[in-house]
Amino acid sequence: MHADPIPPHQGLPSVPDWGTALRPAGPFDPWQSFNAACDVWSGGHADAAGLARRRAWRLRDLLESACAAPLHAARLRAAGGASIGDPGRSPRAAQRAAALPLESIEPIGRAQTLARFDEACTDRAVTLERVRAFIADPSRIGEAFLGRYAVWTSSGTTGSPAIWLHDTRALAVYDALETLRFGGFDRPGRGADWLGDWVRTPAGSGGRYAMVGATGGHFAGVASVERLRRLWPWAGASMRTVSILQPLRALCAELDAFAPSVVATYPTAAGLLAAEQRAGRLHIRPHELWLGGEPLSDAVRREVADAFDCRVRETYGASECMAIAWECTHGALHVNADWVVLEPVDRDMRPVPPGTASHTVLLTNLANRVQPILRHDLGDSVTVDAAPCPCGSPMPTLRVEGRRDDVLVLEGIDGPVRLLPLALVTVMEDEAGVFDFQLVARDAGTLLLRLPPSSDPGARPACHRALRAFLDTQGLATVRVLDDPRAPAHEAASGKLRRVASGPGR
Ligand SMILES: [Zn+2]
Repeated sequence: MHADPIPPHQGLPSVPDWGTALRPAGPFDPWQSFNAACDVWSGGHADAAGLARRRAWRLRDLLESACAAPLHAARLRAAGGASIGDPGRSPRAAQRAAALPLESIEPIGRAQTLARFDEACTDRAVTLERVRAFIADPSRIGEAFLGRYAVWTSSGTTGSPAIWLHDTRALAVYDALETLRFGGFDRPGRGADWLGDWVRTPAGSGGRYAMVGATGGHFAGVASVERLRRLWPWAGASMRTVSILQPLRALCAELDAFAPSVVATYPTAAGLLAAEQRAGRLHIRPHELWLGGEPLSDAVRREVADAFDCRVRETYGASECMAIAWECTHGALHVNADWVVLEPVDRDMRPVPPGTASHTVLLTNLANRVQPILRHDLGDSVTVDAAPCPCGSPMPTLRVEGRRDDVLVLEGIDGPVRLLPLALVTVMEDEAGVFDFQLVARDAGTLLLRLPPSSDPGARPACHRALRAFLDTQGLATVRVLDDPRAPAHEAASGKLRRVASGPGR
């Protein structure tokens, strides 16, 4: 999971903010949006066979168009063998490649895609150099790259952030999936409920939407909010991104002043905010909390729902596809099976049956053409449910699992301070420029910094500078950061790296 929680697609504007009206617009195509809305509406009423038909023809379409990207043409040629010809040069070979079974294509990871970025895109005008120049400018967050693409970066352990481009058709599909399906406006038999639900949204009540997450970069969450603010400048005052890098007291004060009706954030951040609300240091009354970007346990869901006395809804998206699954009224997470193919696999990339936790999951995004996401290793462990959901939707349900980074509790000048793992990861990546690391809280007053032996010599001092500055702003001036000569330790069972961990013995 690498996306921020999803943006307020239901939220339409109420207060003019003409200051942003002159900025370049975000990527948007009204005709694509109309088509996508009609399609998502009808897909939501299709049976299992209807969904399979949609998947099948969209997959052919995706494979054929992916041949315009040399990296994917080579993958398809490898899958089909010499007899299919060269799908990167011949339209007939591309048509033959489009008929290949999806399972015959070798999976691909984030690092491989980034290493051959230009070849992984179907538009030859897109180059890594151009995209990097674009994302270096934070004032362009949410703006259309080359006038037509959204750009989202995601954190990673590969030495640089991964970069994902989405075209206007893909954005139209994500918008429609989140408005109609996640928003619940396409459920059959809703009748008068529809109006009631609409009134309770930011659009209907002039409500306010706050995304609490990492800001200041082209991350999917903040970039999506900024895109909507560019498209609907008058909506600026009813949507806000709230940085988790600020001290908790300041974060709570900002939320209290904004009084959001919907808060979207990470489960770890929501747990922290729930504790503040219970302690009387936060006083918001949202009617819904949307949680995503990390696995959500039943315990955290209950804790957060109780503390805020509101509905909690889980989302599942990533920078590679904003809308992978949606939560129904029974609390189950349904895969958007008409626009996404998810393949849960074991360590050797063999499929695992329903009811079994996967090692990772392969994502195929059927909506995006500019940077095809084709059997892409997402890194999440998921379990697809064997039994159908009582809500009646034929779209399969799943649970997203796996380990996540720890919230650290450190002793500050004015008492204990809880630090969100995402805040520490953002400081390390954005301020220090270091991606492969491990921070371990040995005790409440000591952080151990582990870097791989291959790190750049300047990395360690950069980490110390960035961490020191961050800890000082959090009231943690007395916490020491010590160098640990050991390399980051991967989990024995999964082989995954927990970059922020607490407790001795790690
Ligand atoms: Zn359901």
